[in-house]
Amino acid sequence: MTRGAPLGLPVLCAQTRLLVVAPHPDDETIATGLLVQQVREAGGEVCIVLLTPGDNNPWPQRWLERRLRIDAPDRRRWAQRRGIEMQQALERLGLAQTSLRPLGWPDLGVSPLLLHSTGSAVAAIAQELDRFAPNLIVVPSLLDRHPDHGAAHVVVRLALAGHAASPALFTYLIHGMPGHRGFVEIQATPAQVTNKREALLAHRSQLALSGRRLHRLADRPERYVEIGQPSLAADVLPWQPPRWLQPWLGLSVVNPTGAYRWAWPNAPLQRMPDGRFRLSSSACDQSAPCFAHLSLNLPSPWIFDHWGWCELQASHTPVDPVAA
Ligand SMILES: [Zn+2]
Repeated sequence: MTRGAPLGLPVLCAQTRLLVVAPHPDDETIATGLLVQQVREAGGEVCIVLLTPGDNNPWPQRWLERRLRIDAPDRRRWAQRRGIEMQQALERLGLAQTSLRPLGWPDLGVSPLLLHSTGSAVAAIAQELDRFAPNLIVVPSLLDRHPDHGAAHVVVRLALAGHAASPALFTYLIHGMPGHRGFVEIQATPAQVTNKREALLAHRSQLALSGRRLHRLADRPERYVEIGQPSLAADVLPWQPPRWLQPWLGLSVVNPTGAYRWAWPNAPLQRMPDGRFRLSSSACDQSAPCFAHLSLNLPSPWIFDHWGWCELQASHTPVDPVAA
C-alpha cells in the first residue's frame, strides 16, 4: 500500500482516476476536500461531476442580496456566483477548472428528474463514466436526507449497472445519521486540512447563514463507506408509515429499465404479520439494482427527506398485489 493511502481505499497513485459526484457546489469540498488533494498529490486525476448549480438557494440569496422576491434572472445570477465560488474552491484543492463537469440539473429537482426522465438522467451519468473512465468513484450515501443527495446515489448506481467497467465505489454522507457499517477515514496532513478549510471559505454565499454548520460538517473526519450488499434482504420496505398519513404518501421504485410510481393506497404492497410492508411488484424482479422511495405528497417548507430511499433485492417469490 502506498504510504499515506487510506486503509480500505484503493492505493492512490498516478493511475488513480477519481470521479466525485457532487449534487451542489460545496459538497465536493465538505465531503471530499482531503481525498481529492491526496489523489492529486499521488499524481492521479480527479473529475468533479456537479449535478446542479445550487441556484435554488433562496434564504442565503435573500439575506445577501437584501431582497424578498427571487425570480428566474436572480436565480441565474446566484448560480453564476456559486459557480465562481466553486472554481475558487477547486483551485484551493489543487484542481484545474477542466476537472469540473457541470450537468445543470435542477437544484432540489434531482429526484423528479430521476423518476420522470430516468433514461436521460442515467445516460448523462453514463456519458461521464465513459468519458473519464474512473477507477474510483465517490457518491452521496443512500442514507443522506437531502433529496438531491439520495437521488444522486441512485442515478449513479443505475448508470454503473450498465457500465462495462466496475470501478471501486464509495459513499459519503453529509446530511443525516451515518449507518453502523465499517468506514474508511482519511488521514490528512495539516496542509491538506488547511487547504480544505480555505476551500470551504471560497463558498462565501453558503457561509453567510450556515457558516457554523458548514464548518462543523467540513471539520468532521472525512469518511467513506464502500458499497456492498444492500442492508435489506428481499423486497421488504424499511418504512411503516402511520395509517392516517398513507393517503398523502407516494411510493416510487426505480431500476435500470425505468421508474414506477404509485399513491401509497394503490401500491402493490402486502402487509406482513409483523406489520412491515412487502413490495410485490415485478419492478424489482426485472433488473438490479432496484431502489424504492417514499415521499409525502404535500407542500412543505422542509426540504429534507423523512424516509428517503432504500435498496431492494428481488425475493423471486411471486405475491399477489394487494392494497395496504
Ligand atoms: Zn449538497
